[in-house]
Amino acid sequence: MPYLPTLCDHCSRPRLVPIADVTDGAARCPDCNGEARIVPSRSYPAADLDLFDELSEGVSSGMSAATAQQLAARVGHILWSGSSTSAFNDLMERWPGLFTLQTAIGGNAQAQRRVLQLLSTIFAALAMLRPGMPVSSHDQEERSEPRTVAPSR
Ligand SMILES: [Zn+2]
Repeated sequence: MPYLPTLCDHCSRPRLVPIADVTDGAARCPDCNGEARIVPSRSYPAADLDLFDELSEGVSSGMSAATAQQLAARVGHILWSGSSTSAFNDLMERWPGLFTLQTAIGGNAQAQRRVLQLLSTIFAALAMLRPGMPVSSHDQEERSEPRTVAPSR
């Protein structure tokens, strides 16, 4: 089953949602069940789910719609110009969290293209963020960490 990229209006995360779950151009966010908008983009097979989530997690934190728009244009240009390992690495160096992935891909042109294609969709999604709603990060970590309260005297 094909998956469509969405952007959640509640948690601001780009996610892939099964096409069967899309009704009237909207879907439910797999993370928080909030209302998610469909991103105008191609669809993806289930095989791309994990990589999409890894990339989305790696690049989304603190992203604004304006920056995402610039990055979408940059990724589009790299794809259009046929990509190169140096252009790919220049782009990826922006996100230290993706270093392991970058290293694993190395000079594999086909893998670079797949990542760039997914990134262009993720940035197209993030470009739909509402103003003043930067992507929140580490929600779950904050929730699971008990707050240390200093004893009152
Ligand atoms: Zn959500």
